[in-house]
Amino acid sequence: MKKVLLLGASGSIGSQTLDIIKKYPEEFELVGFSVGKNIEKAKEIISSFKEVKNVYITSKTNANELKHQYKNIRVFSGKSGLNKLIHQTDFDQCVDALVGFVGLEPAVEVLKKNKILCLANKEALVAGGTLINKLLDEGKGKLYPIDSEHVALAKCLSKCDIKDVKSLIITASGGALRNVEISELSKQTPEDALRHPTWKMGAKITIDCATMMNKGFEIIEAYYLYHFPLNKIRVQMHDESLIHSAVELNDGTLIVDYGKPDMHEPIRWAMFEGKSDYKVYFVKALDEFKDCHFHDYDYKRYPCTEIAKQALLEGASKMIALNAANETAVNRFLNHEIGFLDIAKFVGKKVEKQKLIRQPSLSQIKRIDKNARKVN
Ligand code: NAD
Ligand code: MG
Repeated sequence: MKKVLLLGASGSIGSQTLDIIKKYPEEFELVGFSVGKNIEKAKEIISSFKEVKNVYITSKTNANELKHQYKNIRVFSGKSGLNKLIHQTDFDQCVDALVGFVGLEPAVEVLKKNKILCLANKEALVAGGTLINKLLDEGKGKLYPIDSEHVALAKCLSKCDIKDVKSLIITASGGALRNVEISELSKQTPEDALRHPTWKMGAKITIDCATMMNKGFEIIEAYYLYHFPLNKIRVQMHDESLIHSAVELNDGTLIVDYGKPDMHEPIRWAMFEGKSDYKVYFVKALDEFKDCHFHDYDYKRYPCTEIAKQALLEGASKMIALNAANETAVNRFLNHEIGFLDIAKFVGKKVEKQKLIRQPSLSQIKRIDKNARKVN
């Protein structure tokens, strides 16, 4: 039985993680969790999971209400609260389903404690990939990604010899605006960009899918997780999100992870540390899957993916700026303060301006992040 700490329990991945914990009561027990602002969700989780001992909620007022209502539960809040939650909870495995840069420091703390980290928060790898890999190399902590493409890649890579691999193929739906004429993209509203054709997710990642910054982030994730250089990581546009990703071998064989788009499976895979059953397909060409449609990747439509690739080629501080500027721009777009195409413009400028530092410490990462968020 593993004791689980869940960060971001009120979100899309967080809620699906709770489903997995409920489904396997012999394997997992929830001992602590965090939510952002959703106090009703916090109360609902506390009443459904009786082993919860520690909770984090952002606001002090909400924390006081929870403390008053649940005398046996420790409640943390405020800036240092997430760290306290991690250090004062007795857990084996942490699912980091926070969104944005706020997920990095908890990921680092979990690895410093030599625990198992199931990481949905891809921004942690984008902004802190070098630091996270250093902690993994030097410590006893373990990392399992929760991203459908990366779980798919892990499954495919487990079925072959790494020396036979020619490239990693990451599939991409193209997001909500994939069929909009490029000349019309500047007029698209947040509501348009939030209508994802194949996945239901939190708002930030849904916008990242529309700009395909998400795919740029996923290339960076693949680089840090599987140690393949950028020229061996390829994006394949695929409409239905049925093929989650694939591995191409030197002899032309493709190893493919195919299944319905549902995040419960990648979450389950990560929580079972890759030890659960799964099936992959060996084919000669992707179009052997008759219900799947494919297109070429169009770099003119998706400048954000190109900016992310460039940042990866240059080094760590560029990726920190990439992530921070993207978070700022996506928030401003969601608040109707800037247009859809301004996201790439803002991010591109911030990345270009950023000085190169290849191995930043956590405090340097925080400083770079703060600077790159500034709107000026
Ligand atoms: P979401 O917006 O639905 O949930 C985010 C969670 O983080 C919420 O619980 C929210 O309260 C919490 N949170 C946000 N800011 C916080 C703060 N400052 N302090 C404390 N808590 C805070 O997001 P999501 O779609 O579940 O995505 C979570 C992560 O997983 C993201 O990094 C995303 O890229 C990644 N991911 C999501 C999916 C998906 O299907 N949703 C798939 C692959 C990867
Ligand atoms: Mg993904």
